[in-house]
Amino acid sequence: MSNTEYIREHRPFIRNRGMLVVISGFSGAGKGTLMKRLMEDYDYYSLSVSATTRKPRPGEVDGRDYFFVTKEQFFEMLKNDELLEYANYVDNFYGTPRSYVEQEMAKGKDVILEIEMQGALKIKAKFPESVLVFITPPSVEELSDRLRKRGTETEETILKRMAKAAQEAEGIEAYDYILINDNLDKTAKHLNYLIQDQHMRVRSQIAFVEKMRNDLRAYYTNLNSI
Ligand code: 5GP
Repeated sequence: MSNTEYIREHRPFIRNRGMLVVISGFSGAGKGTLMKRLMEDYDYYSLSVSATTRKPRPGEVDGRDYFFVTKEQFFEMLKNDELLEYANYVDNFYGTPRSYVEQEMAKGKDVILEIEMQGALKIKAKFPESVLVFITPPSVEELSDRLRKRGTETEETILKRMAKAAQEAEGIEAYDYILINDNLDKTAKHLNYLIQDQHMRVRSQIAFVEKMRNDLRAYYTNLNSI
């Protein structure tokens, strides 16, 4: 059975609204590739595109990877309450545009925010039902190797990002799940199961539970009236 078939068969009964899923992890944990795989393999996810004041890396496309904006534009969005959350990360601002997230969740899509820890905590505070997943490579050696192999960062930035990782490691307990990304296929499957299982939590199925209750009440009332 393919992944999608498995999940369809195990799909919950009522899906009114999608879920908010926050993915964080050390810079270099392989989140970008993982997200790409998730989007390719399953059609019920939407990936939020953030606004950032960081300059594009070679190959990055405006509107696809990020909305690349100036500081002035970023603060204008903030002032107009267009961002669901935002953070300052290694000298740049990053924020999640609100309208896309709300629109996709209303369609029933599970919306993925690939954001750092300060933003993740803000999302959990605002949306307690959201699921927070932390992605990490198997070791520190692997982490620094991956950052260097990416070849897009200066040595100074790599060191700053490693320092940031040390700081972020202190906050991992705030997350609901941790996934060790040692194999792309396996991690993508785990991530998908983990997210879809959330729909089967009783709190996500309140509409279904209410319907069962009402139907049972009606059944009982009908019996009594015979
Ligand atoms: P990068 O510069 O490597 O693309 O991203 C740096 C960090 O910013 C990553 O940890 C990434 O997850 C995070 N990030 C990207 N977009 C957002 C956002 O909209 N909000 C927050 N809080 N963090 C973000």
